[in-house]
Amino acid sequence: MECKEVQKKIHSFIEDELDSKESLAFIEHIRKCPNCKEELSIEFLVITGLQRLDDAEAFDLQRELEDKIKTNKENALQRKKMSRIGFLFIIFLAVVAGYYVSMLFYV
Ligand SMILES: [Zn+2]
Repeated sequence: MECKEVQKKIHSFIEDELDSKESLAFIEHIRKCPNCKEELSIEFLVITGLQRLDDAEAFDLQRELEDKIKTNKENALQRKKMSRIGFLFIIFLAVVAGYYVSMLFYV
């Protein structure tokens, strides 16, 4: 993913609107590119900070951002894994169905 594309998606990332493939590409880029990381930090601080202005409780947004990146990545990987399992399951069903069909012909 290019810097330009990543920076366009920062807002969607913060709002959890990216799909798993986009999330992973986004996070991978963020991990390697200090410029985009900086952009993400700033935007996260602004968006989340504004939502919390009323909150008197001290908050550690930098850490929250790290947590968010981590959770987001885990979720994306999880979703990817689930779709792979679904795919394998369909293949499995097709094999089983094929086996039964062939049994019908050989009996
Ligand atoms: Zn970048």
